[in-house]
Amino acid sequence: MKNNSTIYLDNAASTPVDSEVIQAMIPFLVDHFGNPSSLHNMGRRTTLALSKSRSLVSKLIGANPNEIYFTSGGTESNNLALIGYSKAIKKIRPDCDRILVSEIEHESVLEAVKYIEKELKFTVDYIPITSDGIVDMNAYSNLLSPKTSLVSVMLVNNEIGTIQPIQPMIEIIKKRRYNTVFHSDAVQALGKIPIDVKQIKPDMLSISSHKINGPKGIGALFVRKGICLEPIVFGGGQELNLRSGTENVYSIVGFGKACEIWKDKLQMSLPVLQKLQNYLISRVLNEIPGASVNGTLQKRIFNNVNFSFKGVNGEDLLTKLDEFGIEASTGSACSSNKKKKASHVLKSLGLSYDQISGSIRFSIGSQNTIAELEVAVDILKRVVNEFRNMK
Ligand SMILES: *Cc1c(COP(=O)(O)O)cnc(C)c1O
Repeated sequence: MKNNSTIYLDNAASTPVDSEVIQAMIPFLVDHFGNPSSLHNMGRRTTLALSKSRSLVSKLIGANPNEIYFTSGGTESNNLALIGYSKAIKKIRPDCDRILVSEIEHESVLEAVKYIEKELKFTVDYIPITSDGIVDMNAYSNLLSPKTSLVSVMLVNNEIGTIQPIQPMIEIIKKRRYNTVFHSDAVQALGKIPIDVKQIKPDMLSISSHKINGPKGIGALFVRKGICLEPIVFGGGQELNLRSGTENVYSIVGFGKACEIWKDKLQMSLPVLQKLQNYLISRVLNEIPGASVNGTLQKRIFNNVNFSFKGVNGEDLLTKLDEFGIEASTGSACSSNKKKKASHVLKSLGLSYDQISGSIRFSIGSQNTIAELEVAVDILKRVVNEFRNMK
């Protein structure tokens, strides 16, 4: 029953591309196809577009344009940050062979550090999280050592929407005068909370376009001036030798436009999203018995709620909701096609198997309305009841 009345509540997986973004991209698909490395007018035109976009992206996170490196998305940015830095530090300070990440990182961080452990012989330590869904600061403080070359903790978790205290984590490193470098996967934070790298002071930060109404397959890594990385892709030396390959010009232009739009509308959209999220949470908790929100209600972004429904299977629920045109998720889009693999994030929260299997994530976008949520909750209520009555 897919039709126009589909209610899309999976904005943490991807977002609709803004029509202004599409308009900005079209000229670079149709007319300005030159290679930015070419020394002619067509080449110069795309070079100019690249530098304009670099500046727009940098502004959204308070960086300098020359600290922005374009990549193919959040996944590659995380890989470049972690593998690129580990390769570089191994040569300069081989004794600093420990990496610290939280237990609830995205797969693109967790799989990259497994690779580093295996191929570069580093030791990876995992910071546990509290039942609130926030990293355990005491554990972090104990695990952080002078041998820790790199810490990677996400700014916002993609499955439960909790905000991680990365600024206090960075301050601990500075206070101890360690040389430890701090990377943060800020893919879910971008466009949901204000980010200023001058204030938070991470050394590296990953962002992605398609989570903020830009095209897929494009993202960036912020690398603070002075931090040395080795490339993981080799070739013509684009992106200051850090990421070879002809630049994905039209996508970069789209990403730049999406950042420009979000810079203007962020403050305005936060109360709107908050109102939508509050409506969703209060109705579900008040009207559906045995429902709970995973992760704290305090330190969270306003568009991502992960519920557990006692005695109901999340995947069955999802399928049924989809039949009614309501599109949600069981958590991480990247892992939900591997059926039945329990979420590492919800496990880390200490939830029971029952709570984990009964979980479902609704992530709201700025295009959603209260009217849509009203319909979604009504149907959710009905479907949960039906499943329970079947037993
Ligand atoms: C989506 C996402 C990524 C991956 O970004 P892509 O651009 O899809 O590769 C990484 N980290 C988090 C937290 C995400 O939500």
